[in-house]
Amino acid sequence: MRRLTLTRRSFLSLAAGTAAAQPLMGATGSWGWLDEPAASAAPSWHDQGVLDLAHSPYAKLRNVPVRAVTLSGGFWARRRKTNVASSIPSMHEELLEHGRMDNFLRLTGASNAPQRGPVYSDSDIYKWLESVAFALQSQDDPALRQTAETTIREIVAIQEPDGYINTYYQGDRKKDRMTVPTQTRGHELYCLGHMLQASTAYYRATGDRTLMDAGMRFVDGYILPNFGPEADKRPIVSGHPEIEMALIELYRTTGERKYLELAGYILQGDPRAELRPEQIVYMNCGVPFTTKTKLQGHAVRAMYACCGATDYYMETGDAAYWKTLEVLWKDLAQAQMYVTGGVGARSAGEAFGEDYELPNAQAYGESCAAIGNMMWNWRMLAATGEARFADVMERALYNGINSGMSLDGTLYCYRNPLAFDPTSGEHIRNPWYDTTCCPPNLERTFASLPGYFYSTATDGLYVHLYDNSEMRWALESGNGLRVTQKTNYPWEGNVRLTVAVDQPEEFTVYVRVPGWSRESRVLVAGKAIAEVRAGEYLPVRRRWSGETVVELAFDMRPELVTANPAVAEDTGRVAMQRGPVVYCMEGLDQTKGTDARAFPLYMANASGATHGEYKPDVLDGVMVLSHAGAKRTESVDTLYALAGAEKAPVEPAELKMIPYYAWDNREESSMQVWMPVVG
Ligand SMILES: [Zn+2]
Repeated sequence: MRRLTLTRRSFLSLAAGTAAAQPLMGATGSWGWLDEPAASAAPSWHDQGVLDLAHSPYAKLRNVPVRAVTLSGGFWARRRKTNVASSIPSMHEELLEHGRMDNFLRLTGASNAPQRGPVYSDSDIYKWLESVAFALQSQDDPALRQTAETTIREIVAIQEPDGYINTYYQGDRKKDRMTVPTQTRGHELYCLGHMLQASTAYYRATGDRTLMDAGMRFVDGYILPNFGPEADKRPIVSGHPEIEMALIELYRTTGERKYLELAGYILQGDPRAELRPEQIVYMNCGVPFTTKTKLQGHAVRAMYACCGATDYYMETGDAAYWKTLEVLWKDLAQAQMYVTGGVGARSAGEAFGEDYELPNAQAYGESCAAIGNMMWNWRMLAATGEARFADVMERALYNGINSGMSLDGTLYCYRNPLAFDPTSGEHIRNPWYDTTCCPPNLERTFASLPGYFYSTATDGLYVHLYDNSEMRWALESGNGLRVTQKTNYPWEGNVRLTVAVDQPEEFTVYVRVPGWSRESRVLVAGKAIAEVRAGEYLPVRRRWSGETVVELAFDMRPELVTANPAVAEDTGRVAMQRGPVVYCMEGLDQTKGTDARAFPLYMANASGATHGEYKPDVLDGVMVLSHAGAKRTESVDTLYALAGAEKAPVEPAELKMIPYYAWDNREESSMQVWMPVVG
């Protein structure tokens, strides 16, 4: 049996009991930091991480609370600080200015503004609330909490007696509510899914379950009595997958199995909805998830469907689901993912293309899709403990996700191309989009980031990501654990991990050795480990006692990367990667005197040397790379020429590269990730 559903009163008394828990003194008596309850005790509302896998029978790993990990003085600490200080407040202003809260207030008479924004506008508010929740999980902020509480009050105030909440379909459009055509386009369940995700995150931050109770009333009072597989109920089409993973998280949080069963029914699809084949492909729902054989259709929908299906697998162990997830993951990693971890090649339909269809300038690579990719791989990692999933996660995080927000935290990318020509007139970074799904999605991801650094397992601890940080948590045995990381990752490859246990205990620390690190060294208490393999977790099993230092050295040499020859756009080209960071060239850093369409002029020398220099004043501090290459001394003005005819003259040129995530943070300029090779 899972955790009992607790009443509000018992939740509060549990919370009070937690706060009063006696500090556990370490064996050395040197620190009294463990005011956390032991992880083996019944977990409390604030002991759960991004996901609550404490009782998921088919999850190998369990999350660590966001609040247990403090990032400070490193790469992601800066990003998170900008997120909380700048992005979250400025996005709140944008949301208000664009009428997103007026949509709620209008329904209680507190505003007479007309409905504004697309059908999914409520989800913008919910995602923003979720980002606030994760920020509060790390650190309380009374003003921010008050804003969130007001927002939640205003949301809940519009709830109808049967539980329904959706500002677009309350009032004039009530008659269209949850009809099959509306389910395919109206995003009602998508909005509910984001409401539930925000509510569980907010509950884990504050213990306040007002929003979660409202979400449960929606499901219990409106969905379950009227919709479902039974003959006397109407079918459900998720339309835009999202509700599946949200319902499963609600199940994990409340122990109410009906939410898992509802998610399973939605993942299965209901033939009574009579969807057209192209709708099924585009929406990634409507037929059994287990019938999928490749990633197709709308990329965010596909990634969220995979998240829900992986969550379903972790609760049920359904082997057909796992088989499908493996097939889809191979399609992702071997044929459909950009080198940046972005996914969804086509602008048309914001969709996956054919295998190896990965255009650069035309790349869609929606920020939300890269986030969906990370969320899915986080779940696959939790199910297995396999490092290949963490490698994809890290690739997406440092590149295709990180590119989505400007360095000052106020501009956002909807699409994340891998080449750009400013003469196109397109502005890639903007403060607001009418479909503003990406900005708050980026905000919730950065706010939740500490929760992605570690996991626990029955036999120990997994270390997934590296940055200056401190974790204060406990092993699953209940033994207090503190892990600190000192590093300049990703600019330097050395990480000094200090593992401190409350009581001596034999367990395994699984240290992730990134797939890109050609040569890695690991020393435990000064003693080198013989075999360290890239792309795996190195299991360090020992009797840990007091403080133990684990020194890691990853290979941060810049590496040229080639694409599968089937990727037509990358033929004869290379990309540059250094550690987890993918690089690009921006026109403004190159030798002047070329026009804006300069990139055909520059070529990398495949065997040329690369030099790196850390520049603290450039783009908030980045490792700038210089690579030996060549530049045509004049542009080519013929569209076609006979092969073998005299080539345009070239001269040596040093190519300057910056991290891809930091592109378009200065004056607009041309950009490319994949560089032609000299020859
Ligand atoms: Zn988006």
